[in-house]
Amino acid sequence: MLADQQQLHTLEENLKTHSLTYGSRYVDKPIPKYTIPEDGLLPQVAYQVIHDELNLDGNAALNLASFVSTWMDEHAHKLLSETLNKNYIDQDEYPQTTEIQNRCVSMLAELFNSPEGKGAVGTGTIGSSEAIHLAGLALKWNWRKRRQAQGKSTDKPNIVMGENVQVCWEKFARYFEVEPRLVPLTEERYVLGAQEALELVDENTIAVVGILGSTYTGEYEPIEELNQALTELNSKTGWEVPIHVDAASGGFVAPFTRPELLWDFRLPLVKSINVSGHKYGLVYPGIGWVIWRDKTELPEDLIFHVNYLGGDQPTFNLNFSKSASQVLGQYYNFLRLGKSGYSRIMEVLQENANYLSQALEARGLFKLLSKVGDLPVVTFALKEETSFSVFDISEKLRERGWIVPAYTMAPNAEHISVLRVVVREGFSRDMADMLLNDIERAVRHLQDSQQYSKSSKDTPSPKKTQGVC
Ligand SMILES: *Cc1c(COP(=O)(O)O)cnc(C)c1O
Repeated sequence: MLADQQQLHTLEENLKTHSLTYGSRYVDKPIPKYTIPEDGLLPQVAYQVIHDELNLDGNAALNLASFVSTWMDEHAHKLLSETLNKNYIDQDEYPQTTEIQNRCVSMLAELFNSPEGKGAVGTGTIGSSEAIHLAGLALKWNWRKRRQAQGKSTDKPNIVMGENVQVCWEKFARYFEVEPRLVPLTEERYVLGAQEALELVDENTIAVVGILGSTYTGEYEPIEELNQALTELNSKTGWEVPIHVDAASGGFVAPFTRPELLWDFRLPLVKSINVSGHKYGLVYPGIGWVIWRDKTELPEDLIFHVNYLGGDQPTFNLNFSKSASQVLGQYYNFLRLGKSGYSRIMEVLQENANYLSQALEARGLFKLLSKVGDLPVVTFALKEETSFSVFDISEKLRERGWIVPAYTMAPNAEHISVLRVVVREGFSRDMADMLLNDIERAVRHLQDSQQYSKSSKDTPSPKKTQGVC
């Protein structure tokens, strides 16, 4: 090898290892990154290597992109770390953990006004995605049973939902072979319209999905109106098309901030609801829940009974083993906060979201796409054509540590680019003021630099800077 080739080779080898940083102080051999090291490290060295590398990740408190909890209190930490070694699925060995999961199901069923009360069925999951796959399967099974009883074909199931659905619904449709029928959005409407949804419903529709609220804008879909319209359609046609509510975020917000809003089991066609415990349920990821209106909505043949952990264990989950700590974290929050505690927190989040919304609007540069009173989410777009885009603002804010995603709206409204701030616990009024200042600074910088350089006219092509989750 030539000398510089040799050098390049060494450099490449070094890049595959941690040796550049840690070769001298702690270890005498490079630590491979992509193969398991032949020999182990001392625990404090392994810890330090990983701990330091994670400094490159974003700061969770400044991550305004995600709906997922980034803070729990000290006692929750204690409880979670004490229970990390319990396997959630091991019902026979950890019967109290199973009992506590069932209490959470019952508490949520009551919160969502289930007619069954304590008898409601449901299960803990890894998040809303798994919950939605389970709920979707139950809907598909129930539809098939109805069709078979009528001697009709069962080969073309479809599901009706807005184009603004979270990606897990598209996964469900593809993995479980259900045709997705997407209600188009428009320039004025960023969520599903009830009448427009009905036009896509037919005898093969396993359900219509209503979202509380939309991942894109936080807006609640018109679920009461949907229930009304679908009830009429069902009685005219003899179909029994139900509603599933994807309350991933709103399931822990609406019951506390707008108890009069009808979106849950008070509406007769709502047969199942999912909610993410790790969003406004205020637990660390991953925990989600699915609750069925009553036992008859959960087909018995989707439940498996296993006995290899001892006893008879009914399981209805896609995965098997996981830590029990998140379920216990959820129960901790229920006991610690109570309904009044959740109400207080959700009201404060709502107030902070309103504050941020008003301040942004007052600046004159932005228009709001989120709806005050729905999820505490602030989605905003540039009002007029400017020489810079929301993607530039997002990038500029990143320099100050803020993670505020810019993205294009769902199909048919995709020419609208927005910024989104998810107001979570920990986002104080103070932080809102700091963010507003930094937005102002970013805008001023972009305006100034555009004046001097014509070349920066070609703004980056619209892309998602962060996953919309
Ligand atoms: C976050 C979200 C999901 C997915 O939930 P996970 O808990 O992250 O799996 C589904 N639907 C909506 C509306 C969401 O906001």
